[in-house]
Amino acid sequence: MQLQGFSQRLASGTQTEALRGAACRAQSRVLPSRPRAGASVEAPGHNIREDAHNRADMPGSDAFNARYVPFKSLQSGNGVSEQYSLDEVLYRAQDGGLLDVQHDMEALAKFDAAHWKKLFDSRIGTTAWPYGSGVWSKKEWVLPELSSDDIVSMFEGNSNLFWAERFGRQLGMSDLWVKQCGNSHTGSFKDLGMTVLVSQVNRLRKIKPEAVQAVGCASTGDTSAALSAYCAAAGIPSIVFLPADKISLAQLVQPIANGALVLSIDTDFDGCMKLIQEVTAASPIYLANSMNSLRLEGQKTAAIEILQQFNWQVPDWVIIPGGNLGNIYAFYKGFKMCMDLGLTDRLPRLVCAQAQNANPLYLAYQAGFDNFHPVKAKTTFASAIQIGDPVSIDRAVLALRETNGIVEEASEEELMDAAARADLTGMFNCPHTGVALSALTKLRERGVIAPSDRTVVVSTAHGLKFAQSKVAYHSKEIEGIVGKYANPPVQVKESVGDVMDAIRNKFSSM
Ligand SMILES: *Cc1c(COP(=O)(O)O)cnc(C)c1O
Repeated sequence: MQLQGFSQRLASGTQTEALRGAACRAQSRVLPSRPRAGASVEAPGHNIREDAHNRADMPGSDAFNARYVPFKSLQSGNGVSEQYSLDEVLYRAQDGGLLDVQHDMEALAKFDAAHWKKLFDSRIGTTAWPYGSGVWSKKEWVLPELSSDDIVSMFEGNSNLFWAERFGRQLGMSDLWVKQCGNSHTGSFKDLGMTVLVSQVNRLRKIKPEAVQAVGCASTGDTSAALSAYCAAAGIPSIVFLPADKISLAQLVQPIANGALVLSIDTDFDGCMKLIQEVTAASPIYLANSMNSLRLEGQKTAAIEILQQFNWQVPDWVIIPGGNLGNIYAFYKGFKMCMDLGLTDRLPRLVCAQAQNANPLYLAYQAGFDNFHPVKAKTTFASAIQIGDPVSIDRAVLALRETNGIVEEASEEELMDAAARADLTGMFNCPHTGVALSALTKLRERGVIAPSDRTVVVSTAHGLKFAQSKVAYHSKEIEGIVGKYANPPVQVKESVGDVMDAIRNKFSSM
Protein backbone atom coordinates (compact mmCIF):
# COMPACT_ATOMS: atom_id res chain seq x y z
CA MET A 1 0.00 0.00 0.00
CA GLN A 2 1.37 3.44 -0.86
CA LEU A 3 1.02 4.55 2.76
CA GLN A 4 3.97 2.38 3.59
CA GLY A 5 6.30 4.74 1.72
CA PHE A 6 4.36 7.65 3.15
CA SER A 7 4.98 6.51 6.70
CA GLN A 8 8.67 6.01 6.01
CA ARG A 9 9.00 9.54 4.62
CA LEU A 10 7.15 10.94 7.59
CA ALA A 11 9.09 9.03 10.18
CA SER A 12 12.29 11.06 10.40
CA GLY A 13 10.35 14.33 10.56
CA THR A 14 8.00 13.22 13.29
CA GLN A 15 10.76 11.94 15.50
CA THR A 16 12.57 15.27 15.57
CA GLU A 17 9.24 16.89 16.31
CA ALA A 18 8.66 14.52 19.22
CA LEU A 19 12.11 15.11 20.70
CA ARG A 20 11.77 18.86 20.31
CA GLY A 21 8.44 18.56 22.10
CA ALA A 22 10.11 16.67 24.92
CA ALA A 23 12.63 19.46 25.38
CA CYS A 24 9.87 22.09 25.59
CA ARG A 25 8.07 20.08 28.18
CA ALA A 26 11.17 19.65 30.26
CA GLN A 27 11.00 23.44 30.65
CA SER A 28 7.29 23.60 31.25
CA ARG A 29 7.48 21.13 34.12
CA VAL A 30 8.65 23.86 36.47
CA LEU A 31 5.47 25.81 35.80
CA PRO A 32 2.49 25.42 38.12
CA SER A 33 0.24 22.54 37.07
CA ARG A 34 -2.24 23.31 34.34
CA PRO A 35 -5.97 23.22 34.95
CA ARG A 36 -7.35 19.77 34.36
CA ALA A 37 -9.61 18.77 31.52
CA GLY A 38 -13.15 19.14 32.73
CA ALA A 39 -12.29 21.86 35.22
CA SER A 40 -14.72 24.67 34.57
CA VAL A 41 -13.20 28.06 33.85
CA GLU A 42 -16.11 29.84 35.58
CA ALA A 43 -15.74 27.79 38.73
CA PRO A 44 -12.05 27.30 39.41
CA GLY A 45 -12.77 25.95 42.87
CA HIS A 46 -14.89 23.08 41.56
CA ASN A 47 -12.10 20.54 41.17
CA ILE A 48 -10.63 21.30 44.53
CA ARG A 49 -13.96 20.90 46.28
CA GLU A 50 -14.62 17.61 44.49
CA ASP A 51 -11.16 16.40 45.43
CA ALA A 52 -11.75 17.29 49.04
CA HIS A 53 -15.05 15.43 48.90
CA ASN A 54 -13.32 12.34 47.56
CA ARG A 55 -10.62 12.54 50.18
CA ALA A 56 -13.20 12.82 52.91
CA ASP A 57 -14.64 9.54 51.64
CA MET A 58 -11.32 7.77 51.31
CA PRO A 59 -8.08 7.61 53.25
CA GLY A 60 -4.97 9.00 51.52
CA SER A 61 -3.35 7.13 48.66
CA ASP A 62 -0.75 5.67 51.06
CA ALA A 63 -3.46 3.41 52.49
CA PHE A 64 -3.36 1.13 49.45
CA ASN A 65 -0.52 -0.28 47.43
CA ALA A 66 0.31 -2.60 44.56
CA ARG A 67 3.45 -4.33 43.33
CA TYR A 68 4.75 -6.62 40.61
CA VAL A 69 4.87 -10.34 41.42
CA PRO A 70 5.58 -13.28 39.11
CA PHE A 71 2.39 -14.49 37.46
CA LYS A 72 3.51 -18.05 38.24
CA SER A 73 3.26 -17.47 41.98
CA LEU A 74 -0.46 -16.70 41.56
CA GLN A 75 -0.91 -19.89 39.55
CA SER A 76 0.82 -22.17 42.03
CA GLY A 77 -0.60 -20.52 45.15
CA ASN A 78 2.73 -21.20 46.86
CA GLY A 79 3.20 -17.63 47.96
CA VAL A 80 5.25 -14.87 46.43
CA SER A 81 8.97 -15.40 45.97
CA GLU A 82 9.82 -12.15 44.19
CA GLN A 83 8.21 -8.74 44.28
CA TYR A 84 9.05 -5.39 42.78
CA SER A 85 7.93 -1.79 43.06
CA LEU A 86 5.83 -0.50 40.18
CA ASP A 87 8.51 2.17 39.84
CA GLU A 88 10.92 -0.45 38.46
CA VAL A 89 11.28 -0.66 34.68
CA LEU A 90 10.50 -4.34 34.42
CA TYR A 91 8.48 -6.58 32.13
CA ARG A 92 9.40 -10.11 33.17
CA ALA A 93 10.17 -12.11 36.30
CA GLN A 94 13.66 -13.48 37.00
CA ASP A 95 12.93 -16.73 35.19
CA GLY A 96 11.62 -14.85 32.15
CA GLY A 97 7.97 -15.49 33.04
CA LEU A 98 5.14 -12.97 33.06
CA LEU A 99 4.57 -10.50 35.86
CA ASP A 100 1.29 -9.54 37.43
CA VAL A 101 0.21 -6.48 39.39
CA GLN A 102 -0.87 -7.63 42.82
CA HIS A 103 -2.92 -5.36 45.06
CA ASP A 104 -2.84 -5.24 48.84
CA MET A 105 -6.20 -6.95 49.20
CA GLU A 106 -6.16 -6.73 53.00
CA ALA A 107 -5.97 -2.97 52.85
CA LEU A 108 -8.77 -2.84 50.28
CA ALA A 109 -10.88 -5.25 52.34
CA LYS A 110 -10.86 -2.81 55.27
CA PHE A 111 -13.65 -1.12 53.34
CA ASP A 112 -16.79 -3.14 52.80
CA ALA A 113 -18.52 -3.88 49.51
CA ALA A 114 -21.17 -1.22 50.11
CA HIS A 115 -18.45 1.39 50.47
CA TRP A 116 -16.79 0.49 47.17
CA LYS A 117 -20.06 0.32 45.26
CA LYS A 118 -21.12 3.70 46.58
CA LEU A 119 -17.73 5.26 45.86
CA PHE A 120 -17.53 3.93 42.29
CA ASP A 121 -21.14 4.84 41.57
CA SER A 122 -20.59 8.37 42.92
CA ARG A 123 -17.82 9.03 40.43
CA ILE A 124 -19.74 8.26 37.23
CA GLY A 125 -19.88 11.31 35.03
CA THR A 126 -17.97 13.57 37.42
CA THR A 127 -15.55 16.19 36.16
CA ALA A 128 -13.35 15.84 39.25
CA TRP A 129 -9.95 14.82 37.91
CA PRO A 130 -9.33 11.96 37.26
CA TYR A 131 -12.44 10.15 38.51
CA GLY A 132 -14.66 10.84 35.49
CA SER A 133 -12.64 8.23 33.62
CA GLY A 134 -14.13 4.74 33.78
CA VAL A 135 -10.63 3.48 34.58
CA TRP A 136 -9.62 6.07 37.17
CA SER A 137 -13.00 6.00 38.88
CA LYS A 138 -11.54 2.74 40.23
CA LYS A 139 -8.12 4.29 40.93
CA GLU A 140 -7.69 2.57 44.33
CA TRP A 141 -7.98 -0.79 42.53
CA VAL A 142 -5.82 0.20 39.56
CA LEU A 143 -2.72 2.20 40.54
CA PRO A 144 -3.48 3.38 44.07
CA GLU A 145 -0.17 5.10 44.68
CA LEU A 146 -0.05 7.19 41.54
CA SER A 147 -0.54 10.92 42.06
CA SER A 148 -3.52 12.34 40.19
CA ASP A 149 -1.14 14.89 38.67
CA ASP A 150 0.74 12.12 36.86
CA ILE A 151 -2.36 10.60 35.28
CA VAL A 152 -2.72 10.85 31.50
CA SER A 153 -6.40 10.30 30.78
CA MET A 154 -8.96 11.09 28.10
CA PHE A 155 -11.86 10.03 30.32
CA GLU A 156 -11.84 6.61 28.67
CA GLY A 157 -14.21 3.84 29.72
CA ASN A 158 -17.81 4.31 30.84
CA SER A 159 -18.78 2.74 27.53
CA ASN A 160 -22.32 1.83 26.61
CA LEU A 161 -23.69 -1.57 27.52
CA PHE A 162 -25.98 -2.01 24.53
CA TRP A 163 -29.09 -4.10 25.01
CA ALA A 164 -29.07 -6.19 21.83
CA GLU A 165 -32.80 -6.70 21.94
CA ARG A 166 -33.50 -7.44 18.26
CA PHE A 167 -30.37 -9.50 17.64
CA GLY A 168 -31.01 -11.43 20.85
CA ARG A 169 -34.56 -12.18 19.74
CA GLN A 170 -33.24 -13.58 16.46
CA LEU A 171 -31.11 -15.99 18.50
CA GLY A 172 -34.00 -16.76 20.83
CA MET A 173 -32.44 -14.81 23.69
CA SER A 174 -33.99 -12.25 26.01
CA ASP A 175 -30.98 -10.95 27.88
CA LEU A 176 -28.19 -10.24 25.37
CA TRP A 177 -25.89 -7.25 25.76
CA VAL A 178 -22.91 -5.83 23.87
CA LYS A 179 -20.26 -3.95 25.85
CA GLN A 180 -19.13 -1.28 23.42
CA CYS A 181 -15.48 -0.99 24.42
CA GLY A 182 -14.68 0.35 20.94
CA ASN A 183 -16.65 3.55 21.60
CA SER A 184 -13.56 5.21 22.89
CA HIS A 185 -11.00 7.89 22.10
CA THR A 186 -8.96 5.85 19.62
CA GLY A 187 -11.77 3.42 18.79
CA SER A 188 -10.72 0.30 20.69
CA PHE A 189 -10.52 -1.05 24.25
CA LYS A 190 -6.76 -0.54 24.13
CA ASP A 191 -7.35 2.96 25.55
CA LEU A 192 -8.35 1.39 28.89
CA GLY A 193 -4.92 -0.17 29.33
CA MET A 194 -2.90 2.57 27.71
CA THR A 195 -4.07 5.29 30.09
CA VAL A 196 -2.61 3.23 32.94
CA LEU A 197 0.67 2.39 31.21
CA VAL A 198 1.32 5.91 29.95
CA SER A 199 0.41 7.40 33.34
CA GLN A 200 2.95 5.18 35.09
CA VAL A 201 5.53 6.03 32.40
CA ASN A 202 4.78 9.70 32.96
CA ARG A 203 5.69 9.21 36.62
CA LEU A 204 8.81 7.15 35.77
CA ARG A 205 10.06 9.91 33.47
CA LYS A 206 9.89 12.35 36.38
CA ILE A 207 11.72 10.12 38.87
CA LYS A 208 14.11 8.41 36.38
CA PRO A 209 14.40 10.67 33.33
CA GLU A 210 17.28 8.72 31.76
CA ALA A 211 15.54 5.34 32.03
CA VAL A 212 12.55 6.10 29.83
CA GLN A 213 13.16 8.30 26.81
CA ALA A 214 10.41 6.94 24.58
CA VAL A 215 7.70 4.29 24.61
CA GLY A 216 7.42 1.59 21.94
CA CYS A 217 5.07 -1.20 20.97
CA ALA A 218 4.57 -3.86 18.34
CA SER A 219 1.00 -3.77 17.24
CA THR A 220 -1.72 -5.22 15.10
CA GLY A 221 -2.98 -1.62 14.84
CA ASP A 222 -5.08 -0.67 17.83
CA THR A 223 -2.31 -0.72 20.43
CA SER A 224 -0.21 1.67 18.35
CA ALA A 225 -3.18 4.00 17.90
CA ALA A 226 -3.80 4.10 21.66
CA LEU A 227 -0.12 4.38 22.58
CA SER A 228 0.55 7.25 20.20
CA ALA A 229 -2.54 9.18 21.31
CA TYR A 230 -1.80 8.94 25.04
CA CYS A 231 1.89 9.68 24.50
CA ALA A 232 0.99 12.70 22.38
CA ALA A 233 -1.34 13.93 25.12
CA ALA A 234 1.51 13.69 27.65
CA GLY A 235 4.27 14.88 25.30
CA ILE A 236 6.14 11.57 25.42
CA PRO A 237 7.87 10.32 22.23
CA SER A 238 6.39 7.06 20.89
CA ILE A 239 7.60 4.43 18.41
CA VAL A 240 5.33 1.83 16.83
CA PHE A 241 6.32 -1.37 14.98
CA LEU A 242 3.61 -2.35 12.52
CA PRO A 243 3.44 -5.36 10.20
CA ALA A 244 3.40 -3.84 6.68
CA ASP A 245 0.05 -4.16 4.86
CA LYS A 246 -1.58 -6.11 7.70
CA ILE A 247 -3.52 -3.36 9.45
CA SER A 248 -6.41 -1.18 8.37
CA LEU A 249 -5.90 2.26 6.82
CA ALA A 250 -7.65 3.93 9.78
CA GLN A 251 -5.34 2.15 12.22
CA LEU A 252 -2.27 3.19 10.23
CA VAL A 253 -3.17 6.85 10.02
CA GLN A 254 -3.82 7.19 13.77
CA PRO A 255 -0.19 6.99 14.99
CA ILE A 256 0.93 8.99 11.95
CA ALA A 257 -1.45 11.78 12.95
CA ASN A 258 -0.34 11.64 16.58
CA GLY A 259 3.31 12.12 15.66
CA ALA A 260 4.68 8.66 16.53
CA LEU A 261 7.69 7.22 14.74
CA VAL A 262 5.86 4.65 12.60
CA LEU A 263 8.00 1.70 11.46
CA SER A 264 6.22 -0.35 8.85
CA ILE A 265 8.06 -3.68 8.88
CA ASP A 266 7.93 -6.42 6.30
CA THR A 267 6.84 -9.20 8.67
CA ASP A 268 3.79 -10.27 10.68
CA PHE A 269 2.82 -9.28 14.23
CA ASP A 270 4.81 -12.08 15.81
CA GLY A 271 7.89 -10.87 13.89
CA CYS A 272 7.36 -7.27 15.09
CA MET A 273 6.98 -8.52 18.66
CA LYS A 274 10.34 -10.33 18.55
CA LEU A 275 12.07 -7.24 17.15
CA ILE A 276 10.70 -4.82 19.71
CA GLN A 277 11.65 -7.06 22.61
CA GLU A 278 15.25 -6.97 21.42
CA VAL A 279 15.19 -3.23 20.80
CA THR A 280 13.67 -2.34 24.17
CA ALA A 281 16.06 -4.63 26.05
CA ALA A 282 18.98 -2.64 24.63
CA SER A 283 17.71 0.95 24.91
CA PRO A 284 15.78 3.37 27.14
CA ILE A 285 12.60 2.63 25.23
CA TYR A 286 9.78 1.47 27.45
CA LEU A 287 7.87 -1.60 26.19
CA ALA A 288 4.13 -1.05 25.94
CA ASN A 289 3.00 -4.49 24.78
CA SER A 290 0.37 -6.50 26.60
CA MET A 291 3.10 -8.61 28.15
CA ASN A 292 3.27 -5.43 30.24
CA SER A 293 0.98 -6.14 33.17
CA LEU A 294 0.13 -2.47 33.80
CA ARG A 295 -2.23 -2.38 30.82
CA LEU A 296 -4.30 -5.23 32.17
CA GLU A 297 -5.01 -3.19 35.30
CA GLY A 298 -6.86 -0.66 33.16
CA GLN A 299 -8.53 -3.25 30.95
CA LYS A 300 -9.95 -5.09 33.97
CA THR A 301 -12.11 -2.06 34.78
CA ALA A 302 -14.34 -2.94 31.80
CA ALA A 303 -15.41 -6.05 33.72
CA ILE A 304 -16.09 -4.02 36.87
CA GLU A 305 -18.05 -1.56 34.76
CA ILE A 306 -20.26 -4.34 33.36
CA LEU A 307 -21.13 -5.41 36.91
CA GLN A 308 -21.79 -1.82 37.87
CA GLN A 309 -24.06 -1.38 34.84
CA PHE A 310 -26.05 -4.45 35.94
CA ASN A 311 -26.34 -2.99 39.43
CA TRP A 312 -23.67 -5.45 40.63
CA GLN A 313 -25.44 -8.54 39.33
CA VAL A 314 -23.18 -11.07 37.64
CA PRO A 315 -23.97 -12.06 34.03
CA ASP A 316 -23.95 -15.75 33.12
CA TRP A 317 -21.62 -15.45 30.13
CA VAL A 318 -19.05 -12.97 28.82
CA ILE A 319 -17.69 -13.56 25.30
CA ILE A 320 -14.38 -11.92 24.41
CA PRO A 321 -12.43 -12.05 21.14
CA GLY A 322 -8.84 -13.09 21.90
CA GLY A 323 -5.49 -12.77 20.11
CA ASN A 324 -2.55 -12.09 22.39
CA LEU A 325 -4.92 -13.12 25.20
CA GLY A 326 -4.26 -10.33 27.68
CA ASN A 327 -7.81 -9.04 27.58
CA ILE A 328 -9.54 -12.25 28.56
CA TYR A 329 -7.31 -12.41 31.62
CA ALA A 330 -7.97 -8.74 32.39
CA PHE A 331 -11.72 -9.43 32.42
CA TYR A 332 -11.17 -12.40 34.71
CA LYS A 333 -9.10 -10.20 37.03
CA GLY A 334 -11.81 -7.55 37.21
CA PHE A 335 -14.54 -10.08 37.97
CA LYS A 336 -12.35 -11.91 40.48
CA MET A 337 -11.44 -8.75 42.37
CA CYS A 338 -15.12 -7.86 42.75
CA MET A 339 -15.82 -11.32 44.11
CA ASP A 340 -12.84 -11.33 46.46
CA LEU A 341 -13.86 -7.98 47.92
CA GLY A 342 -17.45 -9.11 48.39
CA LEU A 343 -19.11 -6.92 45.73
CA THR A 344 -20.35 -10.06 43.96
CA ASP A 345 -20.67 -13.70 44.91
CA ARG A 346 -19.66 -15.55 41.74
CA LEU A 347 -17.80 -15.33 38.42
CA PRO A 348 -19.40 -15.36 34.98
CA ARG A 349 -18.36 -18.11 32.56
CA LEU A 350 -15.89 -16.66 30.07
CA VAL A 351 -15.79 -17.55 26.38
CA CYS A 352 -12.71 -16.74 24.33
CA ALA A 353 -13.54 -16.35 20.63
CA GLN A 354 -10.74 -16.86 18.11
CA ALA A 355 -10.50 -16.53 14.36
CA GLN A 356 -10.07 -19.99 12.80
CA ASN A 357 -7.08 -18.56 10.91
CA ALA A 358 -5.29 -17.74 14.18
CA ASN A 359 -6.60 -20.27 16.69
CA PRO A 360 -3.79 -21.65 18.88
CA LEU A 361 -5.88 -21.32 22.06
CA TYR A 362 -8.84 -23.09 20.44
CA LEU A 363 -6.59 -26.00 19.45
CA ALA A 364 -5.13 -26.17 22.97
CA TYR A 365 -8.65 -26.08 24.48
CA GLN A 366 -9.70 -29.01 22.29
CA ALA A 367 -6.79 -30.95 23.79
CA GLY A 368 -7.67 -30.06 27.38
CA PHE A 369 -5.10 -27.22 27.60
CA ASP A 370 -2.43 -29.80 28.33
CA ASN A 371 0.02 -28.82 25.68
CA PHE A 372 0.01 -25.57 23.85
CA HIS A 373 1.58 -25.16 20.41
CA PRO A 374 1.99 -21.81 18.68
CA VAL A 375 0.70 -21.70 15.11
CA LYS A 376 1.61 -19.59 12.09
CA ALA A 377 -1.34 -17.21 11.95
CA LYS A 378 -3.04 -16.90 8.57
CA THR A 379 -4.57 -13.71 7.26
CA THR A 380 -7.88 -12.82 8.88
CA PHE A 381 -10.23 -9.84 8.58
CA ALA A 382 -10.02 -9.79 12.38
CA SER A 383 -6.50 -8.43 11.97
CA ALA A 384 -6.03 -7.40 15.61
CA ILE A 385 -6.21 -11.05 16.64
CA GLN A 386 -4.04 -12.44 13.85
CA ILE A 387 -1.55 -13.81 16.38
CA GLY A 388 -0.10 -17.31 16.37
CA ASP A 389 2.09 -17.17 19.46
CA PRO A 390 0.15 -15.30 22.17
CA VAL A 391 2.23 -13.74 24.95
CA SER A 392 -0.52 -14.19 27.56
CA ILE A 393 -1.32 -17.84 26.89
CA ASP A 394 -0.81 -18.83 30.54
CA ARG A 395 -2.95 -15.94 31.74
CA ALA A 396 -5.77 -17.01 29.40
CA VAL A 397 -5.64 -20.65 30.48
CA LEU A 398 -5.91 -19.59 34.13
CA ALA A 399 -8.88 -17.31 33.38
CA LEU A 400 -10.69 -20.07 31.46
CA ARG A 401 -9.99 -22.80 34.00
CA GLU A 402 -11.17 -20.64 36.90
CA THR A 403 -14.41 -19.66 35.17
CA ASN A 404 -15.30 -23.01 33.60
CA GLY A 405 -14.65 -21.22 30.33
CA ILE A 406 -15.00 -22.21 26.69
CA VAL A 407 -13.02 -21.42 23.54
CA GLU A 408 -14.86 -21.13 20.22
CA GLU A 409 -13.65 -20.25 16.74
CA ALA A 410 -15.08 -18.59 13.63
CA SER A 411 -14.15 -18.93 9.96
CA GLU A 412 -13.74 -15.80 7.82
CA GLU A 413 -17.20 -16.24 6.34
CA GLU A 414 -18.76 -16.88 9.76
CA LEU A 415 -17.21 -13.81 11.35
CA MET A 416 -18.10 -11.47 8.48
CA ASP A 417 -21.65 -12.85 8.32
CA ALA A 418 -22.13 -12.56 12.09
CA ALA A 419 -20.95 -8.93 12.09
CA ALA A 420 -23.18 -8.05 9.13
CA ARG A 421 -26.21 -9.86 10.55
CA ALA A 422 -25.90 -8.02 13.87
CA ASP A 423 -25.34 -4.73 12.01
CA LEU A 424 -28.82 -5.20 10.56
CA THR A 425 -30.15 -4.77 14.11
CA GLY A 426 -28.45 -1.42 14.61
CA MET A 427 -24.88 -2.23 15.59
CA PHE A 428 -21.79 -1.45 13.50
CA ASN A 429 -19.41 -4.25 14.30
CA CYS A 430 -15.71 -4.67 13.70
CA PRO A 431 -14.57 -8.13 12.50
CA HIS A 432 -13.29 -9.07 15.99
CA THR A 433 -16.71 -8.44 17.45
CA GLY A 434 -17.93 -10.55 14.52
CA VAL A 435 -15.78 -13.42 15.84
CA ALA A 436 -17.43 -13.08 19.26
CA LEU A 437 -20.92 -12.84 17.75
CA SER A 438 -20.27 -15.94 15.68
CA ALA A 439 -19.13 -17.80 18.81
CA LEU A 440 -22.32 -16.66 20.54
CA THR A 441 -24.45 -17.92 17.66
CA LYS A 442 -22.78 -21.34 17.72
CA LEU A 443 -23.03 -21.76 21.49
CA ARG A 444 -26.66 -20.70 21.40
CA GLU A 445 -27.45 -23.11 18.55
CA ARG A 446 -25.76 -25.96 20.41
CA GLY A 447 -27.82 -25.09 23.50
CA VAL A 448 -24.73 -24.35 25.61
CA ILE A 449 -26.04 -20.83 26.19
CA ALA A 450 -29.68 -21.03 27.29
CA PRO A 451 -32.41 -18.65 26.03
CA SER A 452 -32.66 -16.73 29.30
CA ASP A 453 -28.95 -16.64 30.15
CA ARG A 454 -27.70 -13.11 30.67
CA THR A 455 -24.91 -12.85 28.10
CA VAL A 456 -22.47 -10.06 27.34
CA VAL A 457 -20.51 -9.88 24.08
CA VAL A 458 -17.45 -7.67 24.34
CA SER A 459 -17.09 -5.45 21.28
CA THR A 460 -13.40 -4.60 21.14
CA ALA A 461 -13.18 -1.95 18.41
CA HIS A 462 -15.32 0.51 16.52
CA GLY A 463 -16.57 -0.75 13.16
CA LEU A 464 -15.50 2.48 11.48
CA LYS A 465 -11.87 1.42 11.87
CA PHE A 466 -12.64 -1.50 9.56
CA ALA A 467 -14.70 0.22 6.90
CA GLN A 468 -12.55 -1.27 4.10
CA SER A 469 -13.40 -4.90 4.85
CA LYS A 470 -17.04 -4.06 5.57
CA VAL A 471 -17.34 -2.31 2.21
CA ALA A 472 -15.73 -5.31 0.50
CA TYR A 473 -18.28 -7.63 2.17
CA HIS A 474 -21.27 -5.56 1.11
CA SER A 475 -19.88 -5.22 -2.42
CA LYS A 476 -19.57 -9.04 -2.52
CA GLU A 477 -15.93 -8.60 -3.50
CA ILE A 478 -14.44 -11.10 -1.07
CA GLU A 479 -13.28 -14.30 -2.70
CA GLY A 480 -14.78 -17.40 -1.12
CA ILE A 481 -17.43 -15.45 0.81
CA VAL A 482 -20.99 -15.35 -0.54
CA GLY A 483 -22.03 -12.27 1.43
CA LYS A 484 -25.31 -13.63 2.81
CA TYR A 485 -26.21 -10.30 4.44
CA ALA A 486 -24.64 -8.01 1.83
CA ASN A 487 -26.59 -4.85 1.12
CA PRO A 488 -24.85 -3.19 -1.83
CA PRO A 489 -25.92 0.31 -2.91
CA VAL A 490 -28.26 0.43 -5.91
CA GLN A 491 -27.06 2.49 -8.88
CA VAL A 492 -29.90 4.52 -10.40
CA LYS A 493 -30.21 7.23 -13.05
CA GLU A 494 -31.46 10.69 -12.11
CA SER A 495 -35.07 9.86 -12.94
CA VAL A 496 -38.15 9.58 -10.73
CA GLY A 497 -39.26 6.47 -12.63
CA ASP A 498 -35.97 4.66 -12.06
CA VAL A 499 -35.88 5.70 -8.43
CA MET A 500 -39.45 4.45 -7.87
CA ASP A 501 -38.60 1.17 -9.59
CA ALA A 502 -35.69 0.68 -7.25
CA ILE A 503 -37.86 1.43 -4.20
CA ARG A 504 -40.64 -0.96 -5.37
CA ASN A 505 -38.05 -3.59 -6.07
CA LYS A 506 -37.03 -3.49 -2.43
CA PHE A 507 -40.40 -2.84 -0.76
CA SER A 508 -43.00 -4.72 -2.80
CA SER A 509 -45.91 -3.11 -0.88
CA MET A 510 -45.19 0.33 -2.43
C1 LIG B 1 -6.11 -6.10 20.83
C2 LIG B 1 -7.41 -6.47 20.28
C3 LIG B 1 -8.00 -7.71 20.52
C4 LIG B 1 -7.30 -8.83 21.24
O1 LIG B 1 -6.99 -8.60 22.58
P1 LIG B 1 -5.88 -9.54 23.24
O2 LIG B 1 -5.67 -8.99 24.59
O3 LIG B 1 -4.67 -9.43 22.38
O4 LIG B 1 -6.44 -10.92 23.23
C5 LIG B 1 -9.26 -7.96 20.02
N1 LIG B 1 -9.91 -7.03 19.29
C6 LIG B 1 -9.38 -5.83 19.04
C7 LIG B 1 -10.14 -4.88 18.21
C8 LIG B 1 -8.11 -5.50 19.52
O5 LIG B 1 -7.58 -4.32 19.23
